[in-house]
Order: sequence, then C-alpha cells, then structure tokens
Amino acid sequence: MTDTSETTRILIVDDSEDDSRLISRELSRENPEAVFRRVDTEQAMLSALRDQDWDLVISDHSMPSFDSVRALKTLREIQRSTPFIVYSGAYDHAKGVAAMIEGAEDYLYKSDPQRLLPVVRRELRNSRLRRAKDQAERAAHRMSLYDELTGLPNRRLLAHKIAARAAAPGAGAVTCIDIDRFMRINDSFGVATGDALLKQIGARLQTMLGLYDVLARLSGDRFSCLLWAVADAADARDQAERLLSVFATPFQQNGQGLFLTASVGCALLPDHGNDTDILLHGAEQSMAAAKKNGRNCIEIYDPKLAHGASKRLQLENALHYAVEREELFLVFQPMYEVSSQRASAAEALIRWRHERFGVVPPDQFIPLADETGHIIDIGDWVLRRACQQAREWQRAGHEPLAVSVNFSAAQFRDAHIQQRVRNALDESGLSPELLEMEITETVAMQDAEHAIATLRSLKRMGVRIAIDDFGTGYSSLSYLRRFPIDVLKIDRSFIKDLPDDGDSLSIVRTVVALARALRIIVVAEGVETAEQFQLLADEGVERVQGYHFSRPLSVEAFAQKFIAPPGQADPEATLLGPVTEAFGGAGIAAAA
Ligand code: C2E
Ligand code: MG
Ligand code: MG
Repeated sequence: MTDTSETTRILIVDDSEDDSRLISRELSRENPEAVFRRVDTEQAMLSALRDQDWDLVISDHSMPSFDSVRALKTLREIQRSTPFIVYSGAYDHAKGVAAMIEGAEDYLYKSDPQRLLPVVRRELRNSRLRRAKDQAERAAHRMSLYDELTGLPNRRLLAHKIAARAAAPGAGAVTCIDIDRFMRINDSFGVATGDALLKQIGARLQTMLGLYDVLARLSGDRFSCLLWAVADAADARDQAERLLSVFATPFQQNGQGLFLTASVGCALLPDHGNDTDILLHGAEQSMAAAKKNGRNCIEIYDPKLAHGASKRLQLENALHYAVEREELFLVFQPMYEVSSQRASAAEALIRWRHERFGVVPPDQFIPLADETGHIIDIGDWVLRRACQQAREWQRAGHEPLAVSVNFSAAQFRDAHIQQRVRNALDESGLSPELLEMEITETVAMQDAEHAIATLRSLKRMGVRIAIDDFGTGYSSLSYLRRFPIDVLKIDRSFIKDLPDDGDSLSIVRTVVALARALRIIVVAEGVETAEQFQLLADEGVERVQGYHFSRPLSVEAFAQKFIAPPGQADPEATLLGPVTEAFGGAGIAAAA
C-alpha cells in the first residue's frame, strides 16, 4: 500500500533545542498536525531518515559535530527528493550560495524569521507533488510489467522475454496453463479464496522452472510459461507434464484440501512462429483444444487449429467495404460533470453492423482496422460524423455539448491528421474547443517525442486532448507534464474494484493529485455503481462516465434524453438532466 496519509513530517537539524522549539512553534501555526523531530549528529539524522519519509528538512548551518553540507549529503543519499532548507544563525552569504550549489532548496537566516513560513509552505507543496508523482510512477511501473496479485511477470513482460528468446538460436516453447473450472472456486468460496489459490498455484509452478524459464500470469486463472529450451515436441510435452505435476497434491484452503487440475496448450518456437503474438495465440488456441478434449491434459499446437485466421481474413475483407456500404454507425455515451451534475460531453463510440457477422464490437475490429490501414478511412468517417452530430445537437438544443472521438495508433501516426481534423471542423462548423481527441496512453507513449509534437500542433488548432485508458500503459508520468493534455481518463480497470480495493483507490488518489497540480481534468471511466460515484466525487474526480449514468445511446435515444426540442427552452433543463435523475434512470436501453 502506498502511503497516502496527510501528516506533514519535518526534520530539524539543529544543536539548539530553543531554536528548534521556535521553529516548530512557528510552523505549527499553519500545520497544527505536523510532526517534528530534532537531531544534531549524523548518526541521529541517518536513523531518522531510515525510520520514515520526511517532507522537509530544516538545518542549522554549523553545529559542534555536524554541519549543513554533510546533513544535505546524508539526506540526498537516502531521500533524494526531500527539500532541504538551511536556516542559519550566522550571516554568511558565501556559505548560503555554496549550500544552494550543493542542492539546498533555500538558505534563510534566523535573524529574518518571517521568511521561514512562506518558504516552508512553498517547499511542502512541491514536496507533496513530488511524492504523489513518485508514487504514481512506481505504481504505474509495477502495474505495467508485473501482475499485482501474484507478483509474477505479466503478459507484457512475458512478451519481451519471448521476443528475446526468439532472437536466440535453438528451440523453445510457449505454454498456456488454464486452471479447470476455476469460476466454480470463485463462485463457491469467494474471490478472496480464489485469489489466494492463484497465488499458491503461481508459487508452486515457479518451483518447477528451469534456470531461464519464465512464468507469467496472463489474466484471471491463466498462466503462461516460456520454456527456454526444448529438444522437440515430445520434450515440450514432458516439460509441460512436469509443470502439471504441481496439481498432484491438494491446495490448502481454510484447512480444506482442494484438488485442482489445469489444461495446457503449447506452441513451439521456431516451428510454430517467432512472433510473440502468434506464439501466445497458438498456445492459447491449443489450450482451448485441451479443454475441449476433456481438460486436465496437454495439447501441442496444430496448424490446422488456425481456422481462426480465416475468420480474421473474412473480417478484414468485409471491413474493407464497411464505410462505403454504410454499415458503420455511432453511439454516444454522456460524460457527467460532478460539480454541475450535468452532462458536458459525449463520447462517440463506433459500431459495425455486418449482414453476416452481426454487430461486431469495436474491440474486435478496431485493432484489425488499425493493422490493415482501414482505420484511416473509418476514423475519418467517425470524426466527421461526430463533429456534425455535435453541431446538430448544438443547433437543436441550447448549450454546446463537447464530443470526444477516439483515435487509434495508426490514425495518430497519420501524417495528415491535422488536415483531417481541420476539415471535419470546417465542414461541420463545430468550434474546435468542442472537439476532444482521445488517445490512449499506450499510443501516446509509443513515441513520446513525436506524440508531443503532434499534440502541440493539434492543440494550436484549439481542440482539446484527452489521454484515454490511463494507467494501463507504460506510464512515464514525467511525460505528462510535457504533453499538452486537457483531460485524463482513468481506465475502467481501476474503477471496477472500488470502493473495496485499496490499491485502486491509491492509484485514483495519486492520479487526481497529479492532475490537479498540472490542471488536468480527471474523468473516471466505467463507473457502474452509486458507491463508486460517491467515492470518486469525494476524491475530487471531476467527470464521470459509465453504465451507472448511461450506456452508450443511439443518436435518437441520446437526443431524446438530453437535447430539448427548440421552443421548449427551459435553460435549466434544456441540456441534460441532473445526475441524481440518472441514478434512478434504470432501463435506458443500450443502443445496439
Ligand atoms: P474506450 O475509448 O475506453 O471507450 C469506453 C468503452 O467502455 C466503451 O466500449 C464503452 O461502451 C465502455 N463502457 C462505458 N461505461 C462502461 C461501464 O460502466 N462498464 C463497462 N463494463 N464498460 C463501459 P466500446 O464502445 O465497446 O469501445 C471499446 C473501445 O473501442 C473504446 O474504448 C475505444 O478504444 C475503441 N473505439 C470505440 N469507438 C472507436 C472509434 O470510433 N475509433 C477508434 N479509433 N476507436 C474506437
Ligand atoms: Mg475513449
Ligand atoms: Mg477508455
């Protein structure tokens, strides 16, 4: 758990007890809760620094057995970012400058005590921001490579390892291990028991690994093991058998012995591919075949299983004609402003209705369209349609409603992106500040320098920029300062376990703190319950979006609910109903 407590801790390095008492009395006026501790030797300072994190160090310049320069060095070795203020009894300008060069935040004289409070105020503010940023960065880093529950590498880290393995000579194997009927465990014993079991399974599997093998948790009850070296398919099977032997002994849960089994799929490298996605996909497909064969067994990848690929080809082909055959349409999901309890924007979400495949969800076809390049035409259509729609609603209703549009990786890389946006705005007559462009964190981070340049040029056109699915990417939070961002959308995965999950809550808190410092609006995505909403509102989240308020709606349904026909101009009620009304508003049909 990250430390989110608000107590301010100030370490005073001073040999005079009286001076120290004066300082703490002065500072307590503004920070009545603050905790102070006085030290006057290097040893005492070291132990204070090891005991806990400090928000600020105030140090006298020279003491009988210690001085500010050594105090500063000691601090920097242990708590790099804690601000350090020299508060000196002697008036010595040269020493002051020297301290600043060494990295002190400020140099003050005890003869001039009224400067102390404002400087401390400033440094504490900076220190809090830095701490929030560090915490969020650490959390984001952990989340991006390791599975939080088991501490094992996640899919992303595994992918790196597989790529490294593929570059080396010889054969290896990628396995997919899925626990049989795990849903039942969760259903009958609860998720906490399920989680504890997953940890045990991970730990047991790990004892079976060879020196270079890598075990990862892919999701839920699904693990994957990269077997670094295998002789052939038979050897891969033997090694997988060995992994499965961990299920021979029962797992202990609340004094009960539970027998579990698993199904394993296995793809060989380089025989079945060198590409991470293909290998993992192959392993997953063969695991699915193992389940079909009655579970508790191992299947080696069979290229004939790859009929899934032809479905993909068919989709790809059909996608080609989707725009011209007018098979695409948009639905809109409102985003509510917590303060005014009104919807201030709508996110445009694409849908594809194909005569044979039915309604294909965007998660299935957007990545495909992105890879094949179809996304450029599709994205252009979405952008223009969304701008037109927003403009139409503005004409029909009274208050302007912002529209937000998702941009995929390929769209964002497109050299003509600015021109496309400009055209859509010109054509529709929508003012640029009513268009919000959503780019996922992962896309923004792929090539951060290029992203910054592109975002800046878009920003100059007056549109607003949102970072979508925030928290799921390789977040380098230091880039956030450099991205010209207006909005940060916290990914649904951090909302879904609220209010019970402490880690999600601390991530939400650090993101809110950071965003506030950078003057970025925070949106929580995927708010599904009243408790989640209340908690997020209490934490200072400014906007909310989710099924709790409304599912994505067809154009007609959206207009009916939110846009008053001209003539019925009740300026209070024209645009959108209050959130409280939306709470009770069950039964809003999802479009499509
Ligand atoms: P996204 O941009 O993060 O959009 C939010 C997704 O979460 C939408 O799924 C929305 O229906 C869903 N959602 C909203 N509230 C809740 C909730 O309370 N609970 C749950 N479980 N889900 C909620 P959808 O429409 O299926 O879109 C999925 C993704 O596809 C989007 O994620 C976006 O990345 C992409 N996408 C959708 N439309 C477009 C588009 O026009 N262009 C591009 N490039 N991508 C799009
Ligand atoms: Mg989005
Ligand atoms: Mg999102």
